[in-house]
Amino acid sequence: MVVWRQYLVPEAQAAKVTYGKQNTKKYIVIHETDNEKSGADADAYARLQFNGMHREASWHLTVDDKEAVQSFEFNYACGGAGSAKGNLQGIQITICVNSDGDYSQAVHNAAEVVARIMRDESIPIENVVQHYYFSGKNCPRKMREGQANWLQFLAYIKNAPIGTVRKRKIPTDIERYHVVTGTYETRQAAENVHDVFKYRFGWGVHMEQISDKWRLKTALFTSKAEAKAAEKKIKAAQLSEVTDVIAE
Ligand SMILES: [Zn+2]
Repeated sequence: MVVWRQYLVPEAQAAKVTYGKQNTKKYIVIHETDNEKSGADADAYARLQFNGMHREASWHLTVDDKEAVQSFEFNYACGGAGSAKGNLQGIQITICVNSDGDYSQAVHNAAEVVARIMRDESIPIENVVQHYYFSGKNCPRKMREGQANWLQFLAYIKNAPIGTVRKRKIPTDIERYHVVTGTYETRQAAENVHDVFKYRFGWGVHMEQISDKWRLKTALFTSKAEAKAAEKKIKAAQLSEVTDVIAE
């Protein structure tokens, strides 16, 4: 069980250390801190980012052997990947290598968090890549040196049980939520529901393809209560048996 908490960099600061809210979220990019100093854990890095690091070193989420701490909402394009493509299309995840932490546990935790993000953001395993993939930097270094095998890491992700990541939100910004439906067998079935959402309920909505099925994701609601009310509405109209509320 990994606790995922947010310690979000405030908007004004985020504007300075990212490329803005233009991340297309196609990839999950794996990094390491490369800092073995004792105490250089996820909390420490989240605080550093909160207090203002520079653009080239911004990333979304830091994971250690105890927890995962999120610094930026994923729609921000952080600078950590070292190339425009990686920065504008990647969710940057950094694993701690602090000497007072358990590195292999941190790698396990990162795998569970990555599995959760893949599910929430509809990102396939093929698009989970190393920082090296985008810029040739030797990162994540320990993993690349074989201290945790990359293929093993991908296997952990594939086998990560759903529901082992517990999100604990400590908001520093306004919270916003999408509602997602279950999947529909055909595009037409999803389109019918899409039209109800759009023209009857007045919601912004888009369709997402997940392998050969389709699901719907609403535009953002500005509170959890609103998102929960939308879920109720969907269930009451029997448009989807299952729904989920996900944070932006
Ligand atoms: Zn890196």
